[in-house]
Amino acid sequence: MVEHSEYDIIIVGAGPAGLCFARSLAESGLRLAIIEPQPREQLAQPAFDGREIALTHHSAHLMQAMGVWQLIPQDQIHMLRDAKVMDGEHDVKQFTIEHSEGKASQLGYLVANHLIRQAAFAATGSQQNLSFYTGLRSIAAETDGARAEVQLSDGQVLRGKLLVAADSRFSETRRAMGIGASMEDFGKTMLVCRMRHEGRHEHVAWEWFGRAQTLALLPLGEYESSVVLTLPHSQIQRLMDADESTFNAELSQRFEQRLGAMQLSSTRHAYPLVGVYPQKFTGNRFALVGDAAVGMHPVTAHGFNFGLLGQDLLSQSILDAHRRGLDISSDSLLSQYERRLWRATRPLYLATRTIIRLYTNDSPPARLARKAGLALGARISPFRRMLAAGLTQKGSSLSSTRPVTSALKALVSR
Ligand SMILES: Cc1cc2nc3c(=O)[nH]c(=O)nc-3n(C[C@H](O)[C@H](O)[C@H](O)COP(=O)(O)OP(=O)(O)OC[C@H]3O[C@@H](n4cnc5c(N)ncnc54)[C@H](O)[C@@H]3O)c2cc1C
Repeated sequence: MVEHSEYDIIIVGAGPAGLCFARSLAESGLRLAIIEPQPREQLAQPAFDGREIALTHHSAHLMQAMGVWQLIPQDQIHMLRDAKVMDGEHDVKQFTIEHSEGKASQLGYLVANHLIRQAAFAATGSQQNLSFYTGLRSIAAETDGARAEVQLSDGQVLRGKLLVAADSRFSETRRAMGIGASMEDFGKTMLVCRMRHEGRHEHVAWEWFGRAQTLALLPLGEYESSVVLTLPHSQIQRLMDADESTFNAELSQRFEQRLGAMQLSSTRHAYPLVGVYPQKFTGNRFALVGDAAVGMHPVTAHGFNFGLLGQDLLSQSILDAHRRGLDISSDSLLSQYERRLWRATRPLYLATRTIIRLYTNDSPPARLARKAGLALGARISPFRRMLAAGLTQKGSSLSSTRPVTSALKALVSR
């Protein structure tokens, strides 16, 4: 027998974006369902996945408002004071984005992804208006003028007024709803892990574009950082399989011993790099949030920051409509969400793509353009101030990414 259950909103995917969206609607009185293939125990205790998420002040502010920030162990929230962009090897050109240029005591924060997931799940624990369907996938989805309907892998059918997909950048629900997406396979894989080192990082993040590699360093504890190395997949696979001492020696070398000897202090994780941007964010009684809406390349560290921003835009519009007794899935509400999210994310998505092309291309014109970009960053303090302000301001969600976007556009259009 097929069971049917009625809700106001059905959310597909209990990743950090889906959970935060559900949490933002905790006080609404709307009946919510969330579907997730992972079992409940895994949502409660997610495993370390290598990702350290750089969060802007605005994101931290949103997470505080939904009671998620308070559930992250405070000693696991690391300070991101300044950031350094470097180009070349040995004779390295660089500029620094300093927190003081954004008029805050630090640029942002670093928190491990599994701790964000854990806190977001814990925050929804006492939520009366939310039903979990765990250990189950959504296998079919459709909407019409009257309702949205989702079929689960055990045969149950859920019905609602609005369907929200938060089921990753490769969203099956987006495809089921007939929304295409442009996907850019960068042909590279990113290896992430934690390493201890002899030198101090001084809470400065590095983004280092070398000749045949991209390195990043994200400061955690005093002598520990998250290391991010981007290379073609076969080279990453060799490093994933390498024994620990070979790995340590090679990574210390790749960092030119700038922080002394480095030692692996966590498991290693690899992520193939694919950017995804859908043709649209909404359909009939349907909306995308999180990576399902904007699948960013991690280099500009904005994937989850955009996920938080998108869920906030959508949940605030829904709360407002519900308070006024209006339809929470109306075309006008969804179109407004679509317009706002597009304006907030599209420029940085395109600028990020251009940066990747520029910084992973070693042709003479690309090298010249890089030099010009770094010289611009190093000499022009309004440019650095714009970047810093974009990361540090807590203001409205729409304006919070504009300075970053304008600054990056300036960098890549030289
Ligand atoms: C190496 C790396 C570094 C990053 N660094 C940063 C950073 O510094 N700053 C930043 O802002 N972002 C960063 N990001 C991006 C950030 O990790 C993502 O934006 C964020 O995790 C996406 O969350 P999500 O909930 O949208 O998607 P996901 O975390 O992908 O979750 C999707 C959920 O949907 C579920 N699901 C899938 N299919 C179905 C289905 N059919 N039915 C039901 N459920 C389904 C999955 O099980 C999963 O739980 C980084 C990403 C990577 C890879």
